[in-house]
Amino acid sequence: MKRRPIMAGNWKMHMLVAEAEALVKGLVAGLDGTEDVDVVVAPPFPSLHPVGRLLDGTPIALAAQNMHWEASGAYTGEVSAAMLLDVGCRHVIIGHSERRQYFGETDETVNRKVKAALAAGLDPIVCVGEVLEERKSGRTWEVVGRQTRKGLEGVSAEDAKRLVLAYEPVWAIGTGETATPEQAQEVHGRIRGLIGELFDDGIAQGLRIQYGGSVKPDNVRGLMDQPDVDGALVGGAALKAESFLGIVKF
Ligand code: PEP
Repeated sequence: MKRRPIMAGNWKMHMLVAEAEALVKGLVAGLDGTEDVDVVVAPPFPSLHPVGRLLDGTPIALAAQNMHWEASGAYTGEVSAAMLLDVGCRHVIIGHSERRQYFGETDETVNRKVKAALAAGLDPIVCVGEVLEERKSGRTWEVVGRQTRKGLEGVSAEDAKRLVLAYEPVWAIGTGETATPEQAQEVHGRIRGLIGELFDDGIAQGLRIQYGGSVKPDNVRGLMDQPDVDGALVGGAALKAESFLGIVKF
């Protein structure tokens, strides 16, 4: 089954509003020939609204990098799914390893956020991935399988069709060390198998699984050649229009 590729740029805590606007204008200007790829950008919260306005009427979709699971209330510093929809978001990244590592995100909070995002009408990009010690000790699948299973607990088959998963080995994020296409394929294939068990084979075959971890224009092709790699979640190389477009046009 041929799945439509999805390339997403995670801008993390980079870019003032004017810089974000300039970057997105550069992306829109260079989009020719990318009709067969879904393109997503995830700016920091303050840039979502202005970038969303610039993306209006373009094929690029807007994503947030995080959200809270509650709809509203006394949760200082948090942002709800409705607020993200209100400024034009279609997607939200959930469970990025930096949020797990530095901000106490757990499989349980990931699961709450995934369910809240789906209920509100956002399509989540759910991140999973092992740290170096886990890979070295042969526990990659134990960790990635658990994160996937728990992160998606209680999600209906109908809602599962709107998910995107991102396999991001933590040792490959921002390190310049990419997983080999074979290492990525092995985990992607197992994730797809698990989705088949949790939901059904049709959903597993339709699900898009991105690879993330030091994806660059010069290594994206080999990754995308793998049968179960359907796109990329890109950090560093998404901060320049030229390099992100190089990935989008793999
Ligand atoms: C990421 O932030 O999800 C990521 C993969 O970063 P980088 O491309 O910089 O490794």
